[in-house]
Amino acid sequence: MLSLASPPVARLLEAALEGQALGAAAISQLLTVKGRDFHALVLTADALRERQVGSRVGYVVNRNLNFTNVCVKSCKFCAFSRTNRSDEGYFLPLEEIVRRAQEACALGATELCLQAGLAPGMGGRFYIDLCRAVKQALPEVHLHAFSPEEVKYGAELSSVSLRDYLSELKDAGLGSLPGTSAEVLDDAVRRRLAGGRITTEEWIQVVRMAHELGLPTTSTLMYGHVETPEHIAGHLILLRDLQRETGGFTEFVPLSFVHQESPMYQRGLLPGCRPGPTGHEVVRLFATARLALGAWIPNLQASWVKEGLRQAQLLLSAGANDLGGTLINESISTSAGATHGQRTRPRELRRLIRDAGRVPVERGTLYQSLTVFDGPPEHDPPHPLDTIADEDPRFGSYGALVADPRFRFEPVPREALRPRKQAVKLTDSDTQSS
Ligand code: SF4
Repeated sequence: MLSLASPPVARLLEAALEGQALGAAAISQLLTVKGRDFHALVLTADALRERQVGSRVGYVVNRNLNFTNVCVKSCKFCAFSRTNRSDEGYFLPLEEIVRRAQEACALGATELCLQAGLAPGMGGRFYIDLCRAVKQALPEVHLHAFSPEEVKYGAELSSVSLRDYLSELKDAGLGSLPGTSAEVLDDAVRRRLAGGRITTEEWIQVVRMAHELGLPTTSTLMYGHVETPEHIAGHLILLRDLQRETGGFTEFVPLSFVHQESPMYQRGLLPGCRPGPTGHEVVRLFATARLALGAWIPNLQASWVKEGLRQAQLLLSAGANDLGGTLINESISTSAGATHGQRTRPRELRRLIRDAGRVPVERGTLYQSLTVFDGPPEHDPPHPLDTIADEDPRFGSYGALVADPRFRFEPVPREALRPRKQAVKLTDSDTQSS
């Protein structure tokens, strides 16, 4: 495969095959290769994937619960959030969240993924109470919840340090955190995407503390808008360095920017914003991520919600070894205009994986194998989710959710809105071990 590539690119691919940590210039260069260099990059990523994680491809049976879309922030890329006074604001009460969690577990879900807007008027203990309520009803389920931005919001509202807040979440049953709210970890880019968003340094602080407390996190990147290859290279190196330090990342999940309903693209709020990555950009990103990160973060997930099932399947040949979750409900990408659906069935994921010449594995959130499907498909044990209809009324749609009067968010009167606390200060105990 190296003979396919031009000499400069062949040298970079060779370095990656030898296990060297690629530098920023090398990563940036690989993110732009074309023609035969592109094919050589993909083949190299596939060879490294085989060496690092073998032929198994994972998926997790989970349910997404985006329990409110009301948010005090106004990130320019976000089509999901609604303001305090919006007619489309919803907030699922605790008992409804628990009911949906129980429904998912009855269908075989092993993970609940909880992420939402930063609702005004929310008590700081809400996230903790939520963990306790779900774990009390479902002690076995893995709670994968709260982005670094949400953790920071909860700590601010509670006037406690990030470390204390994360410790309370863990005591209440939190199992791991999604490493979202990362977008591109470069403050100049972040200011353009969303002024007031958690900063790069704050994101690192939350993630590092979570890892130190024994709470693993995923890692993500949102790309295909205004970032450059150099920004992505810096992001990947930052993740790699953090992983060398803590070992707490379970996976890396590249997320294509979905532009269709995104204000920063549709309303022209961000001059120069691209309408998401091209197909080649997506493949180059995955293959390059395998070369740059695979020795440190071996699991590379293709998101079918962002890419569609077909492109996600193709990415299995460009370095990816995971197809993410069944989701059951998905609101954030759907509201941004993604058209790939809100859920998929385990049997469909297994069909794609087998057709790519690989072995499907239902895994847990932390990448432990639960069921290895290494026999013929007709021997697969049936899964309750395989038989639910697309239009099953139990699961509804994002449109139905925002229109449901039972869950309408009651706007918080201006005078009752708590003044935002100052940014969370690092306490002595926070700084000692960071
Ligand atoms: S991305 Fe998150 S924090 Fe930003 S506006 Fe949307 S829901 Fe709120």
